Amino acid sequence: MDGSAQIWGRVLHKISTHISSATLNTWFKRVQLNKVNNGVAVISCADAFVREWIETKHKVLLTEAVTEVVGEKVSVTFIIDESFDTLKAENSPLFMGSKNTDQSIKVIQQANLNSKYVFEAFVVGPSNRLAHAAAEAISNKIGSLYNPFFVYGGVGLGKTHLMQAIGNRILQIDPKKRIFYCASERFLNEMVDAIRSGKTFEFRDKYRKLDLLIIDDIQFISNWQETQSELFHTFNELHLANKQIIFASDRPPAEIPNLMDRLRSRFEGGMVADISKPTFEMRVAILKKKAEENMIHLPEEIIITIASCVESNIRELEGALNRVYNQKNVTGVIPCEKDVKAMLRKIDDERRKSISPQKVIKEVAEEFEVKISEIKSSSRKARLSLPRQVAMYIIREDLHYKLEDTAKYLKRKDHTTVLNAIKKLDSMMGEDQVFREKVENLRDRVRRFIV
Ligand code: ADP
Ligand code: MG
Repeated sequence: MDGSAQIWGRVLHKISTHISSATLNTWFKRVQLNKVNNGVAVISCADAFVREWIETKHKVLLTEAVTEVVGEKVSVTFIIDESFDTLKAENSPLFMGSKNTDQSIKVIQQANLNSKYVFEAFVVGPSNRLAHAAAEAISNKIGSLYNPFFVYGGVGLGKTHLMQAIGNRILQIDPKKRIFYCASERFLNEMVDAIRSGKTFEFRDKYRKLDLLIIDDIQFISNWQETQSELFHTFNELHLANKQIIFASDRPPAEIPNLMDRLRSRFEGGMVADISKPTFEMRVAILKKKAEENMIHLPEEIIITIASCVESNIRELEGALNRVYNQKNVTGVIPCEKDVKAMLRKIDDERRKSISPQKVIKEVAEEFEVKISEIKSSSRKARLSLPRQVAMYIIREDLHYKLEDTAKYLKRKDHTTVLNAIKKLDSMMGEDQVFREKVENLRDRVRRFIV
């Protein structure tokens, strides 16, 4: 029979298809097969923490993998091995296979991708199922299936992660594929530089030779007419050659202002999928995944408390997890549910303060097609008082400004004006569905500015 090291190598290989490479690298580097004897596999762990983690989370997986490799029913036990040498495990040829080699790191960097954004680390649920399914399908068959793939949704909901997962997966399968990921701003800057230095040929050559082009935050392109036409030509060239193009945006193509019609119709010509806010179950699953990848150990109730407090954005969710964990490290005790709630409420308030009432007024003015100065004027015409009331409503309800301050931003002296506005709008929204949708859309748009 093979020696323990060989068996372990094959076990790791089997395991690696079930868990993310981050988990593999974080945890399985710290354990090793000691021996298999009389149907019992003894696994050495670097310390008690690792042992607990592996035993509670991965015992079943390990048992199955060892059983399969050894070819007979095996049970698994764990011991702590104080002389465990993580460095040695890390550098052993067994591990190199699952680690990114220098070569693959270079390929990923050239593509401007982040190697942590992989499918294995992406939690799937009702809010992203369609986008995820399309992304997986594309990685198996680029260029011919959904082209372009246009994914949209609010800040911090996983657009960048999902698009980069496609790139990373394709490079895993074929490192020779030419892939480039960039934000629309980079595309613009490179184009401008190319024009300035007389290198437009090189610029075009670079983009038009790709197998997969991923452009993030494409909504910003609305301000740049020349970039739009350059992108249009790049798009056509790639599309004709069956090369894959992927875009992400914070809104659907139809809502991107000042977008050339021909570009808009290209954006809509493939698969358009949205990602919405994660459900509670997804938030719990995401927190658990992030905790595992970062070796963060917190009790289940705390994970659940965080998941119930932070609802709207996955980046926030990760931030909250880290803050709670840091708190635990600083004070040495796990914060109780009440403390966690208080802590997260404070973060929430800070977040709301990051968007200014002026911005809200501007958005409302645009929506109702009036001037900002008119909203703030003393005129009581209905075409002005309604948007004024909507602005008050959002500043008060979504940004949580005090009544007096809300009044001040709209150049009103009395805070009862705000109270009346809220009462009136609540009743209007209850009766008039079209109006309610208009206001809800506005509120959604404003919330997207909250970072
Ligand atoms: P967006 O591009 O939509 O603003 P990102 O892709 O940057 O959002 O995601 C923000 C953070 O949330 C990243 O750290 C990402 O890994 C994480 N994240 C988003 N969606 C998921 C998911 N479904 N599963 C696990 N992590 C996720
Ligand atoms: Mg993004």
